[in-house]
Amino acid sequence: MEKEPLKYERQREEMVRKQIEARGIDDARVLEAVRRVPRHLFVGEALMDQAYGDFPLPIGERQTISQPYIVAEMTQALRLGPEHRVLEIGTGSGYQAAVLAEIAFRVYTIERIHSLYIRARRLFDRLGYHNIVTRYSDGTAGWEDESPFDAIIVTAGAPGIPACYINQLAEGGRLIIPVGNEYTQELIKVVKEAQGTRQTELGGCRFVKLVGEAGWKEADH
Ligand code: SAH
Repeated sequence: MEKEPLKYERQREEMVRKQIEARGIDDARVLEAVRRVPRHLFVGEALMDQAYGDFPLPIGERQTISQPYIVAEMTQALRLGPEHRVLEIGTGSGYQAAVLAEIAFRVYTIERIHSLYIRARRLFDRLGYHNIVTRYSDGTAGWEDESPFDAIIVTAGAPGIPACYINQLAEGGRLIIPVGNEYTQELIKVVKEAQGTRQTELGGCRFVKLVGEAGWKEADH
């Protein structure tokens, strides 16, 4: 990893303690991952000093990098270990994928906006995240060829749960997906069991829209 100003290291440590640990995230792997990923490099230069704040930030193309706590909460809910293969829908800045890649064996991430896909790919290469596989396509179809996955995380709000995500989960696999209308969603966790699925609600959230064949039809509202 390249050198970074000490100030960002200090801001990151404070982010982990005050926003993430203080709110109950206690999975040691998740805490270690958010301590390692240089979040300021996942936003534009003008926003770097705000990168460790307790809020989402714009990343261009009317999309956002999620609030640090939400990233940690969703990651913890996936119950990841070093042997797992994870699918992420909505690469965006690449920050969530990098956090996953610190823990999991391999991360597959799909983005539908070309400029974001290219920017994230370059950043993964620069930071040495060789276990992240990127793809430019409509993620509402999942990634059939690489399935089944131990975990699937959707980082854009969906009108419902696309059936292919359940199909592409391994038995015992976990899916985390925000489901609701375009303004507010419920974070839903689905566990695939031998006989069917088990579903729990993790709380309210607000994401940009999941746009595609099995998502919202329009990017604008
Ligand atoms: N995980 C990201 C959050 C990005 S916001 C991060 O850590 O920064 C959600 C992203 O989902 C946006 O970049 C948006 O373009 C993308 N997205 C929306 N619908 C999609 C789809 N059908 N397939 C792939 N990506 C999609």
